[in-house]
Amino acid sequence: MTPTQQHATLAATNCPVAFDNLTRQLYATDASHYQIEPLAVAFPRDAKQAAAIIQAAAHAGVPVIPRGAGTGLVGGAIGEGVVVDFSRFNRLITDFDAEKRTVRVGAGVVLDQLNDFLCPEGFAFGPDVATSSRATLGGMIANNSSGARTSLYGTTADHLVELEIVLGDGRVLKIGPGHHSAMPRQRELLEDMVMLNALQIAERFPPGLLKRWPGYALDRIARDPANLINVLAGSEGTLAAITSAVVKLVPTPDEIVEQMCKLGRVTKDDIVYDMGCGDGRILIMAAKKYGARGVGIDLDPVRIAEAKKNAQDEGVSHLVDFRAEDGTKTDISKATVVTLYMFKWFNNAISPKLQKLRPGSRVVAHDFDIDDWKPTSVVHLDSERNGHEGIERPHTLYLWLVGASAKS
Ligand SMILES: Cc1cc2nc3c(=O)[nH]c(=O)nc-3n(C[C@H](O)[C@H](O)[C@H](O)COP(=O)(O)OP(=O)(O)OC[C@H]3O[C@@H](n4cnc5c(N)ncnc54)[C@H](O)[C@@H]3O)c2cc1C
Repeated sequence: MTPTQQHATLAATNCPVAFDNLTRQLYATDASHYQIEPLAVAFPRDAKQAAAIIQAAAHAGVPVIPRGAGTGLVGGAIGEGVVVDFSRFNRLITDFDAEKRTVRVGAGVVLDQLNDFLCPEGFAFGPDVATSSRATLGGMIANNSSGARTSLYGTTADHLVELEIVLGDGRVLKIGPGHHSAMPRQRELLEDMVMLNALQIAERFPPGLLKRWPGYALDRIARDPANLINVLAGSEGTLAAITSAVVKLVPTPDEIVEQMCKLGRVTKDDIVYDMGCGDGRILIMAAKKYGARGVGIDLDPVRIAEAKKNAQDEGVSHLVDFRAEDGTKTDISKATVVTLYMFKWFNNAISPKLQKLRPGSRVVAHDFDIDDWKPTSVVHLDSERNGHEGIERPHTLYLWLVGASAKS
């Protein structure tokens, strides 16, 4: 095809595509040393549009370069063909399942955005890539990214349940342990390949090698060739475009919970109100470790049922009560300690009630403070800064002593 025909083929799809000079220059670089001007840049809104542009590119003989935030260091997100930018759209987070500890993310969801969503639920995404404020989940999967806590959480490939992908011929497929009938021919080829090269793979990928550069994960594939996620994770956009993923979550480390109880100086004489109690872990620790009584509030009845069961399993049901209700309407006047594992809007919404608590009561908030309230103390928890092992990202805790914490 002539360049004019290639343009026309790409422009004829329902996927937004830019051919202008400025856009092409902007997408000619990523965080690597290289610079390659693409022919065009596409901005699919969903898997259907991604399929349309990828199929058109294949038809026109144009290479496809999937792209997230462009923070990759080796030039994987640039190229001469059509750059398919998944970071502008595809940013939905859906199907959060606390019981299964999974959530579905669009390829363009940024790691910090995901962790902000998960934080009030008491979960996080384990792999902690240093570019968390930019890196997309699509880019992290394609690069099999991980961070300083790889020894604790492994790499992104360890946290994938299902991928939705677009192949070169425009087919949209789901792959993962639940989709073993997808692509039987490719699966057969993979099984043959790892069988023929098993010795060499074992020799070159010694067990226990947790973090290595991306690339085809022959060791993973050899361990479980039936799971095509093992082929996709680390393939740097060369095999398929990832449009969304179901990922596994890790619970908030107990260290945070313990520090919140410590900061609130919880004792057996306290009545702790935990707003946004999730699975009840703050109150359960307050009851088990300090003998405190408590009330946990959460909007989600499923979390409340989980919290009740956990309290029963831990033998503290007689000390704690969990209620499914709107925390902004809860009467907290009996509390001597209030813990807030919530967003800032919630903290602000209940601040008039907090102000009316008995003088000397403690309010402890995680990550979000309260507008116009001057904290009595602020604690930063970060395994790199002060050796709190097992904390996958920095956390900030705020303490206010009611009566002492005059409005700033
Ligand atoms: C200062 C700095 C620090 C870094 N620290 C770390 C670190 O701690 N750990 C680490 O692992 N990496 C690190 N990186 C590298 C990089 O930030 C990560 O690999 C990041 O996860 C890439 O995400 P991204 O969205 O920017 O991907 P991009 O750079 O856009 O793409 C990376 C690769 O993934 C492919 N890709 C992107 N999206 C898709 C998709 N939807 N479908 C298929 N393929 C896709 C691209 O084609 C490309 O090959 C660092 C980079 C910088 C600049």
